[in-house]
Amino acid sequence: MSTQQRARLREAPLPRTGAELGGLLDFVREEIAPYSTGNGHPAFFAWVNSPPAPAGIIAELLASAVNATCGMGENALMDVERGTVRMLADLAGLPDSTGGVLTSGGSMANLLALATARTWFLTGRGSGDGPTYDRDHARLTLYYSAQAHMSVTKAAACIGLPAHRLRAVPADEHDRLDSAALRAAVTADLDAGLLPFCTVTTLGTTATGAVDPLTEVTDLCRRTGMWHHADGAWGGLGAAVPALAPLYRGVGDVDSLTVDPHKTLSVPVGCGALLVPDPEHLHTAFAHRASYLTAGEPDALPWLSHATIELTRPGTRALALWATLRHLGRAGVTTLIEHYLTLADQLRDKITAQPRLELLAGGPWPVACFRITHPGGAADDLHARVARRVQVAGRAYLATVAVNDRTVLRACLCNYRTTTDDLDLLIREVLHAADADGPPRSSRTSGRHTADDH
Ligand SMILES: *Cc1c(COP(=O)(O)O)cnc(C)c1O
Repeated sequence: MSTQQRARLREAPLPRTGAELGGLLDFVREEIAPYSTGNGHPAFFAWVNSPPAPAGIIAELLASAVNATCGMGENALMDVERGTVRMLADLAGLPDSTGGVLTSGGSMANLLALATARTWFLTGRGSGDGPTYDRDHARLTLYYSAQAHMSVTKAAACIGLPAHRLRAVPADEHDRLDSAALRAAVTADLDAGLLPFCTVTTLGTTATGAVDPLTEVTDLCRRTGMWHHADGAWGGLGAAVPALAPLYRGVGDVDSLTVDPHKTLSVPVGCGALLVPDPEHLHTAFAHRASYLTAGEPDALPWLSHATIELTRPGTRALALWATLRHLGRAGVTTLIEHYLTLADQLRDKITAQPRLELLAGGPWPVACFRITHPGGAADDLHARVARRVQVAGRAYLATVAVNDRTVLRACLCNYRTTTDDLDLLIREVLHAADADGPPRSSRTSGRHTADDH
């Protein structure tokens, strides 16, 4: 897309008179659709950006025509939303009591989770307000693995935690939060008079797809009075997949779980969720009352605006998620994720079999981080250049990520249309792009990785 075309979109003024809506179709066909991120394409392997499921596209159009707000009052779409929350909880292996809300995505769900944890912790100590609030809030300390998504620290900043109260606990050689290091950090902070209030685990780390140890963290949280939030924006539904389920033992005991149907299930973008086994905690944090907003019936269900920051909320997320889940069924969800796992295994095998490439990390969630073997060890800028060349050539698309503090290539599987042929295409494109840097030699160095997010 040319710079001029983009500038035109940004700078075109609003005409004085209106135009026929018919022109909108041409506008989208000519100016918008050809210049999307490209994540509808089966050879798009960057980030965790799935293509939209047709059921979700249709449902969004229908829900926006109904245009009910899923915040207050009562309407069928609010019950649809409550129903989808229950379905997600069931897929994720959370208890029947679970409630929650749909969100714009994983970042917003993580923010709601940390705000809920903070309110739960302080009210539990009797310091929800007054002088004890000031004293205790300043000592709140948050734990997460060094592999956690950056939305966790962003959420911490939003609820008023300063950087010196955040603990990025080291991950082990498989990129999983090191629970011994977590225990040591919590003990040291307790000894120093601080207030450890929450640990965030990640189910499916963004860089390499690792799943943090759940039961060890829950045990520590129970013993020390912390909230356990699991960020499963990508991998929150692993319990529904037999091959992954052993890693999810104990997931039903977390205090809250983020899932992102717009990543894992191809619901059109704008659909995340926060699931809370005891939804009362969510209501304690977010049910603020106002005289102009009162439920009609005394026995009305809690409004969804009482579980989140938003008041007027779209029904599009709920119906798009409902339609996608109903279309897939439980078996379809499992098969979809298994499809990604199978392709990722194939991709990792192909990388391992190719002498000019070296697999560095990836799994159990479907991702491969790899480097090009190159004279003198491949430099960071080589991988940035190769990714750029692949992107510009336009036949496949992948991104880079930091692994072991080095920039390497990252390919992620989250497109239901991707096939083995697309994997071969990706490898051909990467090798072709690397050829532009001169003849290869097989010099291999290996090391452990510390990946980063994006
Ligand atoms: C993508 C991601 C997020 C953020 O979710 P958005 O929907 O992009 O806001 C949070 N945590 C993890 C682990 C993620 O992969």
